[in-house]
Amino acid sequence: MSKVYNVTLIPGDGIGQEISEATRRVVEATGVKINWDVQEAGADVIEKYGTPLPEAVLASVRKNKVALKGPLTTPIGTGFRSVNVALRKELDLYTCLRPCRSIVGVKSYYKDIDLVVVRENTEDLYAGVEYASGSPEAEAIITQAKGKIRPGAAISIKPISREGSRQIVEFAFNYAIKHKRRKVTAVTKANIMKYTDGLFFDVAREVAKQYPNIEYEERLIDNMCMQLVQKPHLYDVMVLPNLYGDIISDLCAGLIGGLGIAPGANFGRDTAVFEAVHGSAPKYKGQNKVNPTALILSAALMLDYLGETEKSLALYQAVTDVIGEGKDVTYDLGGKAGTSQMADAIIKKLGK
Ligand code: NAD
Repeated sequence: MSKVYNVTLIPGDGIGQEISEATRRVVEATGVKINWDVQEAGADVIEKYGTPLPEAVLASVRKNKVALKGPLTTPIGTGFRSVNVALRKELDLYTCLRPCRSIVGVKSYYKDIDLVVVRENTEDLYAGVEYASGSPEAEAIITQAKGKIRPGAAISIKPISREGSRQIVEFAFNYAIKHKRRKVTAVTKANIMKYTDGLFFDVAREVAKQYPNIEYEERLIDNMCMQLVQKPHLYDVMVLPNLYGDIISDLCAGLIGGLGIAPGANFGRDTAVFEAVHGSAPKYKGQNKVNPTALILSAALMLDYLGETEKSLALYQAVTDVIGEGKDVTYDLGGKAGTSQMADAIIKKLGK
């Protein structure tokens, strides 16, 4: 009998319901048996639960250890900086993985891009330690800085730990080995932030020594942005602290033709949450219009993680075939199909 996997499905809000439904149908068409534990979260459930991130959602992911997640809007004034950041912190999903591969048929200035962004997900300026202008904490830091900070400044703290850096860099090297990649590039601004970003580089150098078969190099983030625009083919796997990783992820999504086709995954020690890079695009909610590819390719990453590598590859192939033919694709790919019609076309391909 084939295995049945327990997976938490968080459809999310905005365009989340439509792309999640499309993805669920496509995943089922691969033949992999999944017992979906559907959990409500996001802007639409605040009235019902008093929060966009009910405890039951976290409990379900903790139990199943694997989740497929649609986008979640962060409504103004809920007490959350970002619902997504809160979810990653609660589950200690310290790695964000974003593979960016060109797909034939998607309009882009670049061809044959094959980059992998490994972003630290819980530290750095996203740790949520930020003090408002005039607050006692900000004032105390200003006094301590002895003239280096202007009076009345608001202050964000950027923690980078040895342990946090080690686990993300190890993830990048282990990923490189598992996926037969040749090089890892660590990226920071260590010439300016000597202690925080400097620590990240120190740890990366130490870790790199344990992987003699993988090339290791370092770049500064400003130079990296230019290099990626001018010579993206020189790069392979990149590992970065949180903020730089966030920015480079979108840059790399741009290189392959946009957010509609950029998948992602978040990993902790024993938990994984798969989600698209894009957000909830509220203006398209309920129109059956947006591209489901990014979430479907995130689901393909999930199938690989579950050990269903063949089905994962078949799904990737079906998606790229449909996009390559250019007929049953959504508006952003130059087509007229709706979200569900594009999913139908992918299902048809899987059946062949
Ligand atoms: P967004 O990614 O939701 O949308 C930006 C634009 O990109 C859209 O207007 C649309 O033109 C295009 N787009 C996005 N997804 C698309 C798709 N699947 N198909 C076709 N076009 C697509 O970014 P935003 O407008 O900055 O954010 C909206 C909300 O989403 C915010 O509340 C933000 O916090 C949230 N968000 C959530 C996540 C997440 O859940 N991981 C990620 C990013 C943003």
